[in-house]
Amino acid sequence: MGTWDYSVFWKETVSQFSSELTEQEFTMWFNMEYEMSEESSITVSVPSGFYRDQVKQRYQNRIEARLYELSGQHISINFDVKPRKKVENSSNSKEKESVHYNESNQVTQKPKVLSQKHTEISQKRTTHPQLRMEYTFSNFVIGENNSFAANAAIAIAKNPGKAYNPCLIYGGVGLGKTHLMQAIGNMAWTENESKIIYISAENFTNEFVESIKNNKTQDFKNKYRNADMLLIDDIHFLQKKDSTQEELFHTFNTLYDSNKQIIFTCDRPVSELKNLSERLRSRFERGLNVDLQPPTYETRCAILSKKTDARGVNIPQEVLNLVAKNISSNVRDLEASLTKLIAYAELTKKPVTLETAQQQLRDSFGAPKQNNVTIETIQKVVAEYFSLSFSDIKGKKRTKAISFPRQVAMYIAREITEYSTTELGIEFGGRDHTTVIHGCQKIEERLKAEPSLETTIQKLNKLIKDYNS
Ligand code: ADP
Ligand code: MG
Repeated sequence: MGTWDYSVFWKETVSQFSSELTEQEFTMWFNMEYEMSEESSITVSVPSGFYRDQVKQRYQNRIEARLYELSGQHISINFDVKPRKKVENSSNSKEKESVHYNESNQVTQKPKVLSQKHTEISQKRTTHPQLRMEYTFSNFVIGENNSFAANAAIAIAKNPGKAYNPCLIYGGVGLGKTHLMQAIGNMAWTENESKIIYISAENFTNEFVESIKNNKTQDFKNKYRNADMLLIDDIHFLQKKDSTQEELFHTFNTLYDSNKQIIFTCDRPVSELKNLSERLRSRFERGLNVDLQPPTYETRCAILSKKTDARGVNIPQEVLNLVAKNISSNVRDLEASLTKLIAYAELTKKPVTLETAQQQLRDSFGAPKQNNVTIETIQKVVAEYFSLSFSDIKGKKRTKAISFPRQVAMYIAREITEYSTTELGIEFGGRDHTTVIHGCQKIEERLKAEPSLETTIQKLNKLIKDYNS
């Protein structure tokens, strides 16, 4: 290993993907091992050329965008093909045969060769397969801003289905909703291994849609209606998703009637959700609704100390105070700054001083959040705006109802990001760059003829800008 070491950023990226992707998707594709860092790149090993091509197409841009968000610098990713020894049937042709795609290009079956790795990963993640093991109560700093929510959460974890059911935790981005919700799951899981399901509302929706497509709705219903505890994250995503709302309504009733604990999180109070059926809204409002507020200065200091201790690094208190003073919006940004300082300390093998902290965190301090818009954000916002799913926008379907929003998304991505048309093509379902150019031209033509489209695009730009703040 040379002077460069971006392994912390890599680890954090993988850990974030593990909580964002479905379990299946994660274990299937994040079978990459960190090898080394160079000045502006990371090399990871992958088990085969086929695997490399797939991962490149699916995740390269997203991983690089995440590395950029975390480190503030452009780190590209190289894939080194290294067949793994332990794996059986590792000839390339077999690998190809064992992966199956359905029409929407989604994997329907795990390749055999990866199943062994799959168990290794699950073992490493020790706790519950869908929960991040570091999201525990002991890692959650309680302050004035969150003590009510945290205490309610502890009560629920000790007494699921009885104390407060259902419970809805709401608050802005990066304030600890997911952490708290998963802490309940983790605690209940260690106390008695009941059937706990954690899923984002987005993945719940996608799974439901898939189940309809594959005539497997009964399996879907069985899975969710038989849970002992159901944790659904970010229910604001369900706005306008009528049939998913309907399905969740019935899931809710079944679980609620049998005293199973249900927990939701949302980025705003339920009363501010739009396009939500009244009966589902009334279910969300039942039980306990608690909010998380941004942490006070003291809490921010405490969070930083706790996180530095947990990572076994030594950063002077005055530096932590400086960070706490300057970054007040949310805990996620606070953590990102700390990660950056830790990486700096590890890289240079020098202690972090006030001066270096100032220098390293210049971009995050004071100035409003950087405009790191990812293609994924654009796709999500546009999909939601036109009441489509994320996979529709990225997918292959060419019906008019989908192509037009997709072209809008391409056009916006071309306007506001630095991605090339080739990269955009990859992100939009593996299309050729000429398709992207053509899509953008279509929108430009329509813009001349229809002034209302301009308004729509302005609205979308605003939604995209607000998406992460
Ligand atoms: P949200 O779901 O509200 O957007 P998360 O739960 O993902 O936020 O929290 C963002 C990050 O901040 C996570 O890494 C989480 O561990 C951390 N975090 C949030 N609140 C606290 C807290 N009170 N104590 C310690 N860490 C926290
Ligand atoms: Mg969250």
